[in-house]
Amino acid sequence: MEDGGGTKMYCHMCQDYYECRVISLDLLGKSYNQRVEDKDDNELKWFRRARKCLNCDTPFATAEIKEDFLRWLKYSRNSLIEIKRAAEETKRSASVSEHLTSLTNLLDEIDKSKVYW
Ligand SMILES: [Zn+2]
Repeated sequence: MEDGGGTKMYCHMCQDYYECRVISLDLLGKSYNQRVEDKDDNELKWFRRARKCLNCDTPFATAEIKEDFLRWLKYSRNSLIEIKRAAEETKRSASVSEHLTSLTNLLDEIDKSKVYW
């Protein structure tokens, strides 16, 4: 373990906060660019950094991305979990129309939530 020289941040391998040092993206073993844009989604852009946990020596990539986007992703993920649950319930239920209305409402909520980012 090295001493200092990094930023204390969460390491998913250690599952705790440890000093992590910025390293060259080349050390991740792939050809990465720092600035990333999704060709299919004009709103999806982020800045990539490579880091190494100074506790476990694991290299990993981080992304600097608009925080509102992460909140929207969390909201969307939770909504999809609800949709899956509702779909499973629909399979077992005779009131298909009621559940399809619920599913449609959830999908509308996801679409509307884009205004936050
Ligand atoms: Zn670690």
